Amino acid sequence: MSIEQPRFENAPNLNNPELNPNKPEGGVNIEKSAETKPEPEKIKEQGKTSKRADFKKDKDITSEEVNEMFETLEKKYKLEETLKKWIEETGADLRQRAERLGLKESVVEEIQKNLERSFEKDLRTVNTSESLEKLKENSSKTIANLIETEQEDKPILKNLLDRLSKKDIFDLLDRKLKGEATPEEEKILDTFSYTDTGKKILGTHDIFSGEIEIFLLNPEDLKKYNATLGHEFTHKALSNLMPEKVREKMISLRFIKTFEEEFRKTSGEKIEKTPAEKAQRWFFHILLAINESLAHRAEKYYGAKREPSYLAYRDKIHPGIFKDLYSQVDAAATGKPLAEFDHFAAHIYSFFVNKWSENLSPEDVNEAAISVMKEIKKFKGK
Ligand SMILES: [Zn+2]
Repeated sequence: MSIEQPRFENAPNLNNPELNPNKPEGGVNIEKSAETKPEPEKIKEQGKTSKRADFKKDKDITSEEVNEMFETLEKKYKLEETLKKWIEETGADLRQRAERLGLKESVVEEIQKNLERSFEKDLRTVNTSESLEKLKENSSKTIANLIETEQEDKPILKNLLDRLSKKDIFDLLDRKLKGEATPEEEKILDTFSYTDTGKKILGTHDIFSGEIEIFLLNPEDLKKYNATLGHEFTHKALSNLMPEKVREKMISLRFIKTFEEEFRKTSGEKIEKTPAEKAQRWFFHILLAINESLAHRAEKYYGAKREPSYLAYRDKIHPGIFKDLYSQVDAAATGKPLAEFDHFAAHIYSFFVNKWSENLSPEDVNEAAISVMKEIKKFKGK
């Protein structure tokens, strides 16, 4: 899968193993070479440097290549600093929200560690030659398939992509966070953000582990990161309000659903559900729609303007129900500060989730759905 990278004047050959700091068998150890440049004091502090390297004896490497490596390290370091600073800055808001939503204060530190880890993962993708190659390969395919992009844009984007070295990408990521990427660069970053399933995911909250992740390889700037974090944090807080037995039930139903889909695909038969099972699923469907509506509405407090893309959730939430709920939640929250919204979100979610029982009938669920709508409208009138 190794494709030959074109060599440009200011771009290193990514196939050159000596330029790949992740390959120990390469002739040069990038950790050792950091010391020859006086500036990166902080890189030294991070333990990324040791005794003076003997790379000068290595005839395979030119001084331009050494420079390129230093500059790459510096760009990476600068980007890490930007991310670190942002993570620190989110602390105050998260602590306030945690208190309002009934989460322990220690949860904030936990989230900040999650964020660091998810950023590190993406930084590693860029910093590892094989995964970077794969990323560029996929991006190149995405560019070729872009229908909405005008034909004449494609060679420009392709050319820009081919020229991007590790150093350039670290630099570009730092600039995009600060909102300084050009429209073409944003298009390239956009092609980086597709997952294997063809979806673009900006962040996640894992209901099993409680972990929050925010992804780096996309065009989003730090303002948008605030919105994504506000969204995922809302999920985390609401998830915490779910009684344990309800959570267990929800998770087991999710597994059963996957199993059933597999069964249907392979056998062509449908497993019949009892009315109680149908009612339980219907309950979780609405609960999820409430959860997602509140998380999307929270984003608006961080400057996001977009309405949810209801269709993107259609495998989990009926778009019509989602749209109805979101517009009610949106109207209710309009004009109210985030502190009030947080109390409202916790109340609405608890109100509905506590209607759960093992022997729900479909009528009970409908009843619960109607009463939660009324509860949302009450808040609107306040
Ligand atoms: Zn969400």
